[in-house]
Amino acid sequence: MVSFRSRVLGGLAKIVSHLPVVLNTVLVFSITAEVSYLVLVEAPLEPDQKKTDWSTKWKALHLFAQYFMLINITWNALLFLRTNPSIRGVFLGGDVLGQGWRYCYTCETHTPPRCSHCYDCNVCVLRRDHHCVFFGQCVGFRNYRYFLSCLLFMWAGLLYAVVMNAEVFIVILKEGVTLHSVLLLLVPWIMLVSGQVTARAFAFAFIADTCVVGFLLVMAFLFFHITLMVRGQTTREWYSTRRPYNLGVLANIRECLGQCWYICWLCPLIPSPLPGDGIHFKVTGSLEPAQ
Ligand SMILES: [Zn+2]
Ligand SMILES: [Zn+2]
Repeated sequence: MVSFRSRVLGGLAKIVSHLPVVLNTVLVFSITAEVSYLVLVEAPLEPDQKKTDWSTKWKALHLFAQYFMLINITWNALLFLRTNPSIRGVFLGGDVLGQGWRYCYTCETHTPPRCSHCYDCNVCVLRRDHHCVFFGQCVGFRNYRYFLSCLLFMWAGLLYAVVMNAEVFIVILKEGVTLHSVLLLLVPWIMLVSGQVTARAFAFAFIADTCVVGFLLVMAFLFFHITLMVRGQTTREWYSTRRPYNLGVLANIRECLGQCWYICWLCPLIPSPLPGDGIHFKVTGSLEPAQ
């Protein structure tokens, strides 16, 4: 009985841990479907609205841009999830311990500098940045490239979706800023449940809202991580204001994105070997916290 209960609880915990990934996937595909609809159906959101007269070539270009971004988001996300950032299966060469090495009592091993234990993944992660709750996996030395590229294309895709959804906002607000239009934009769920709007109006308002909120969130994350990359820091090191591994802007970018840093973000298939091994790092500053 106890084992059945623990199995059920374990299964539930697993489902909950995958929920953010599932929700993100649903949102990304819903937004793409909505924007494709706006392009293909020439945005006739209301019957009396004047249709935008787009040529077939222009529509094809829009669709190509959308699906290029969608493929890059999903591909980078998949490679991020499939690339194990932990110390599992990595020969750490424990007999050459030096400055910055620690002992992890959970993993029962010596760990290199910039490596730290993740209590969600229950393992030590090389050059650990943070545990990403949206993916349910740590961002570390080996998967940082895919994380950054995924963020970049999510930002570009959401920027595009916000511009395309401007028409939705215009339609909602075309009769002026009324209580009905403001509530539809701010709390579309309540308007749907209370029967104030149709499912169609709700869907457009909800996706348009999600695009704006998502765009602002992703932009903040992306610019924070670009700053970290340029400064040669992890999120953990940024908190402690240390920059002992700063190699200069270009070398810092190469450390994160690899030898082909200038092009590799365009497609996850472009090989870009990382210059380091995630175990040994050149120290250029004090490892002690700033006074
Ligand atoms: Zn550990
Ligand atoms: Zn983790």
